[in-house]
Amino acid sequence: MDLTDYNEIRALLARHGFRFSKSLGQNFLTAAWVPERIAEAAGLDEQTGVLEVGPGVGCLTEQLSLRAGKVLAVELDKALKPVLAETLRGRDNVELLFGDVLKQDLPALVKEKLPGLRPAVCANLPYNVTTPLLTAFLEAGCFETVTVMIQREVARRICAPAGTADYGAFGLFVQWHCERSLLFDVPPSCFVPRPKVTSSVIRLTKRGEKPFAVEDEQLLFRVIRAAFNQRRKTLSNALTAGLGELSKEQAEAVLQNSGFDPRIRGEAVELEGFVKISNKVFAEISAKK
Ligand code: SAM
Repeated sequence: MDLTDYNEIRALLARHGFRFSKSLGQNFLTAAWVPERIAEAAGLDEQTGVLEVGPGVGCLTEQLSLRAGKVLAVELDKALKPVLAETLRGRDNVELLFGDVLKQDLPALVKEKLPGLRPAVCANLPYNVTTPLLTAFLEAGCFETVTVMIQREVARRICAPAGTADYGAFGLFVQWHCERSLLFDVPPSCFVPRPKVTSSVIRLTKRGEKPFAVEDEQLLFRVIRAAFNQRRKTLSNALTAGLGELSKEQAEAVLQNSGFDPRIRGEAVELEGFVKISNKVFAEISAKK
């Protein structure tokens, strides 16, 4: 059975009385080249254990199972249980788990279900939970690569360089943990039902070490969020308002001592600059204690 053939998917789902759920981000692929290319981009081999979020009818799962040592596919919609039992029958290296991936202890799940394998994520993500899912994958710290299809707009934000309108706090968070690659676009015509937006596939590769030495990682992200919460303000004003721990004069001094004009805006500062700034903020706060 061709799991990307529009007519076959329709007939399969009708036979099981399945209805698409918008709130679960259910847009299934109907173009064979897409799951093949996503699975290929994930760089899998027999030593890889893949976590897939949301197998749907299993078209990407099938491609992953052909390339990886094992696939653990977590699906929230129990209505897909009989569908997947049919489409993935005989795929011995696929394990299905029905539940919410956001409620899983990911490092423990990987240890239990993908032992002895190099963990990776590969998925066509439900778009309504893209940010919490990516945050969970990166914070879990156990995945060597995360290759996912997401909305193009979010992909661009994640991969945007400093100085552009798309540059922001979430992209910096991702950059802190990973090398980022924007791979290719997929048009709405490749899905059923058709989404309103274009999608993009990105690959995130975990860094061996953090890119810069930081005194306090949580403080670094507080500084970054403060900078972008009020992105039109000068950085000294944004830090004064957003952190609540520095006077205007202290914020200006921190920026000057980090090599920045206090009137600079957050969107002009690279990750390394934010690390310098947060280390100076750390010194300033520690001196006050
Ligand atoms: N992989 C299939 C494909 O490419 O055709 C389906 C992808 S569809 C965009 C997203 C899938 O994620 C759906 O099957 C949906 O039911 C599932 N899903 C949504 N939220 C989820 C969650 N929190 N945990 C696990 N699966 C979820």
